[in-house]
Amino acid sequence: MPELPEVETTRRGISPHVMGRRIYEVIIRRNDLRQPVSPELAGLEGAEFVAVKRRSKYLLFETDRGEAVIIHLGMSGSLRVIPAGADWKKHDHIGITMQGGMQLRYHDPRRFGLVLVCPIAGLESHPLLKDLGPEPLGEMFTAQVLRDALQNKMIRIKVAIMDAKVVVGVGNIYASESLFRAGIDPMLPANKLTKPKAVRLVAAIKEVLAESIEQGGTTLRDFIKSDGEPGYFKQRLYVYDRKGEPCRVCDTPILQCVLGQRSTYWCAACQKKR
Ligand SMILES: [Zn+2]
Repeated sequence: MPELPEVETTRRGISPHVMGRRIYEVIIRRNDLRQPVSPELAGLEGAEFVAVKRRSKYLLFETDRGEAVIIHLGMSGSLRVIPAGADWKKHDHIGITMQGGMQLRYHDPRRFGLVLVCPIAGLESHPLLKDLGPEPLGEMFTAQVLRDALQNKMIRIKVAIMDAKVVVGVGNIYASESLFRAGIDPMLPANKLTKPKAVRLVAAIKEVLAESIEQGGTTLRDFIKSDGEPGYFKQRLYVYDRKGEPCRVCDTPILQCVLGQRSTYWCAACQKKR
């Protein structure tokens, strides 16, 4: 499933190829995604893409018509920019041909993604976006903001940081890895996160996500290749999926348990209870 770093890499990869381009034709082969594709999408012919932004895992393609195309990649979606005449592969559902002959093509085998049109002025209050917490890599995500969000939560810290109302984009792998780097036990009740721990955790979340995006940079060219899937990337993991293997720092075997129905990995020596 594309996580925040993959979505950000997608944004960076395709942005230079769509910015300033006018929409020449919209082709919708299937509109039955997680929600029906907005019929307004076809009405954007003639509009120009003026910005490609991201909020959480939503890509926001803003046009000069005051409307934006919201794209979520769901479980299996991908976007690429290819020549408009390129063969349609199975599961290619939407093509937005741009002036100049290139096409933004949306591919999604499981059709759990979204392609919606919304006025730019209404994006912040859009039902999908309005309750989202801060961006992990933004200046608004600080130790103080995190502690404030957690002060009444007795759930485990691992579960809390995966809650999009607390902070967006911290998926299961990144939650385990961030807690390891911050030296925090994943079982810690969220409201017991001290100030020094919050400082370390916020820094670790930013570091883990930024590293993953940086690694994704090497795959940017894949977004303009017409064959194959975009190459997603795996950074070196310290604890995730390493049950029983020696900790890379202290050699203690990595532990695994299930928290909030998600597999959780940690080193009991590096991530002490207190
Ligand atoms: Zn360790």
